[in-house]
Amino acid sequence: MKRLNLNELQSAIISGKTSCVQEVELSITKANEKSELNIFIEIFLDSAISKAKEVDAKFAAGTSGRLAGMIIGIKDNLCYKGHKVSASSKMLKDFESQFNSTVVQKLLDADAIILGRTGGDEFAMGSSSETSFYGPVKNPLNPLMSPGGSSGGSAAAVSSGICHAAIGSDTGGSIRQPAAFCGIYGVKPSYGRVSRHGVIAYASSFDQVGPLANSIEDLALITEVISGGDDFDTTCSKVAVPKMSYREKETKPLKLGYYKSMLDSPALDPEIREKFFETLSSLRTAGHNIKILEFPFFDVLIPIYYILTTAEASSNLARYDGIHVGHRTSSFSDIESLYKNSRSEGFGEEVKRRIMLGTFVLSSGYYDAFYGKAQKARRVVRDSTIKDLSGLDGIIGPTTPNTAFPLGQDYADPTVLYLEDMFTVQAPLSGIPAISIPIGTHSNGMPYGMQVMGSSFDEQSIFQIAKIIESLP
Ligand code: GLN
Repeated sequence: MKRLNLNELQSAIISGKTSCVQEVELSITKANEKSELNIFIEIFLDSAISKAKEVDAKFAAGTSGRLAGMIIGIKDNLCYKGHKVSASSKMLKDFESQFNSTVVQKLLDADAIILGRTGGDEFAMGSSSETSFYGPVKNPLNPLMSPGGSSGGSAAAVSSGICHAAIGSDTGGSIRQPAAFCGIYGVKPSYGRVSRHGVIAYASSFDQVGPLANSIEDLALITEVISGGDDFDTTCSKVAVPKMSYREKETKPLKLGYYKSMLDSPALDPEIREKFFETLSSLRTAGHNIKILEFPFFDVLIPIYYILTTAEASSNLARYDGIHVGHRTSSFSDIESLYKNSRSEGFGEEVKRRIMLGTFVLSSGYYDAFYGKAQKARRVVRDSTIKDLSGLDGIIGPTTPNTAFPLGQDYADPTVLYLEDMFTVQAPLSGIPAISIPIGTHSNGMPYGMQVMGSSFDEQSIFQIAKIIESLP
């Protein structure tokens, strides 16, 4: 069902067993067969085929790039010149990118083939890919289930075998949670590792772009290709990008930690807990060192995350006013009703909720009590996480408390869904990288993941640890 890893793919192309054009055709066939999963908002047929022809010629000439032949789906929040980009929102339904995001440019320069834009939650706000204007994305492993969110379409594109890899964005878990729910690999790089130039913003002190793929090797290579300083994004670090691919013969025992409070959480599914402890004992048997860590802040992670991200979102989304950019209403009588109606018609319910929440926590009288306090609390969480990581190679834990949830649940209280992010928000709150790898299948038939968090700008270690965990007997 899943597609070849990059190494296998490139060997198959070089030996003439397949070609880039044939691979694109296979992707299109699969996308058509699985159209009811609603993974893609749009397939970029013409540009995908013409890039495939170009890369086939490069293979023949021996000049192909590092990602040559890899068919990639991009989340619908990355600009690709001459193609539409909507953030899965009615607000940007007809918007066309004027330029390439740096990530897209780097992918194209490395000879990846961009197949199309994948669906997910509107403006990346959600955990189930149900808030999209284009309708929910379904999980390829069970179409009654959510693929996770917000990068649910990207995870589903890989899990269904339509693409070799995909790009998502992660603000509070939106790459790692869908990867876990769809049985694939996903990484959120360190804050500042990957340029956000041309990426539609949700919460700018959190957002990171990263890949989803079928193997750690592919994940590491794509991360390496899309990383690096960018004059168009001042928040993007110019720190050198090391070789991220894992070191094959690393024999040194690892020093790992895990949070007791995370594993003690009553919200954690018992089978996922059991599998975690099994993995832990295999790690110990293999000679690795495990430290039990205390983290007294689990209960406040979600409130801090949702106060800060909604505040940032309310500011980032102020630009969609129906005048400068975005959907414009046809019913208005004055400037105020033009703004009001454009925004009311253009945004969905969850986005509106977050804009209102964010505006509230930033409003005078409440700023100090909510936003200011959450900023301070974030610093405490970050400092404590960094301290926990010092002397360790990484911190491990389950990616999510549960497996994929059914589509179409009636969330009378939206915070029920917010709580599902409890294990994934710590990394973006702290700016550190984190990966999710598939670790098991639940008796309910759905997969779940193991998360590895590492120190800032040390993606190599999390790839390395993930590889060692995956290779445990
Ligand atoms: N589920 C989280 C939220 O709704 C994370 C979203 C994301 O990472 N983009 O905000």
